[in-house]
Amino acid sequence: MNIFEGSRSDFEICMQFEKDYDRFYGAVIPPTFGNTLFVFPDHEELGEAVADERYHYVYWRGTNPTVEIVENILAQLERGEQCKCFASGMAAISAAIFNSVSAGDHVLCVSHIYKSTLDLTTYMKKWGVEHSTVYSTITAEIEAAIKPNTKLIYIENPTDITYELVDIKAIARIAKSRGIRTILDNTWATPLFQKPLTHGIDIVVHSASKYLGGHNDLMGGALVTSKELMRTIFTKEYQLVGGCMGPREASLLLRGLRTLPFRMKAHQESTMKVAGFLTTHPAVARVHYPGLNQDNASRLSGYSGLLSFELKEATYAAVKKVINKVKIFKIGVSYGSFESMIFSLNVGTNEEKLKRDRINAGLIRIFVGMEPVEQLIADLRQALGEV
Ligand SMILES: *Cc1c(COP(=O)(O)O)cnc(C)c1O
Repeated sequence: MNIFEGSRSDFEICMQFEKDYDRFYGAVIPPTFGNTLFVFPDHEELGEAVADERYHYVYWRGTNPTVEIVENILAQLERGEQCKCFASGMAAISAAIFNSVSAGDHVLCVSHIYKSTLDLTTYMKKWGVEHSTVYSTITAEIEAAIKPNTKLIYIENPTDITYELVDIKAIARIAKSRGIRTILDNTWATPLFQKPLTHGIDIVVHSASKYLGGHNDLMGGALVTSKELMRTIFTKEYQLVGGCMGPREASLLLRGLRTLPFRMKAHQESTMKVAGFLTTHPAVARVHYPGLNQDNASRLSGYSGLLSFELKEATYAAVKKVINKVKIFKIGVSYGSFESMIFSLNVGTNEEKLKRDRINAGLIRIFVGMEPVEQLIADLRQALGEV
């Protein structure tokens, strides 16, 4: 992990707003521009600005100075040309997908992806867009699942919930040779641990509600891509669908980004220890965490705080017992902030669906937050002792 090193390290990029001191009277953090619109001295100037809203402040649903500061930081962290921030991760994801496909096209989902993203691709049948999932992380099998009308390959690396790695460079190369667009959801790794655009991926999307915000008090999303692709994404999916980020969220996101390198370092260190502990526990059949197997030609440069594990007793009763027994881990869906979290997709009535989705009935997901790691391990030990 070299985020503090290099001539222009990611750490420096996270502090990038220091460049704006002169613009804003030396304000130590950039002001929150809460105005919905900007006024112009004459009719002609407004006309020029409206004709090119990507590069002019006209109306909040296009550009906002505070949001733009965050967008510039995220674009640089991802080594992309441009970024737009959205009202949520799902707003960024739908913008990326809507821009990439039309009626008659097929979306190929690589293994497990975020549930709402999968639900969205399913919903798009209504507009004549079909999808399928290839439950494999092997490049040749993914390639074999491409159809003549595949126009988009959608990836999470590591995959959602099972946290397995795919060869994104190879998939991007195959997609490019066939004129297929690639989108990668980089929420798990953050731009600090993986820069998919440098491997040939076309569009990177994020939920900023997780690590980027980092304090469980902000909902947001981001989309990073080339200037060329952003041209239509901005005028169509951003401005017309209207899922823009607000300046207050942008301000919270800026605060989160200042400490992102420190927080990710802490998550990595603690999660490695928790994963190591779980692999040795007799009640645990399997631990899914890419940090445990770093020699598998992984393209990640670091490992974050989400992992899952399978209980040997793969039943709803066993899952429930463990989750209800933990004291420090909080029971809930999200992650990326201070609090350690725990949850399972097994709700006792959906074993058939889990089987279809290739998810083990004894699977529990945890997010390792910032509580002392010895306490987190002790908490899991006492909870697992019951099964
Ligand atoms: C949370 C999440 C999303 C959705 O983001 P929202 O901000 O909740 O809309 C998408 N992908 C991944 C991997 C996530 O964890």
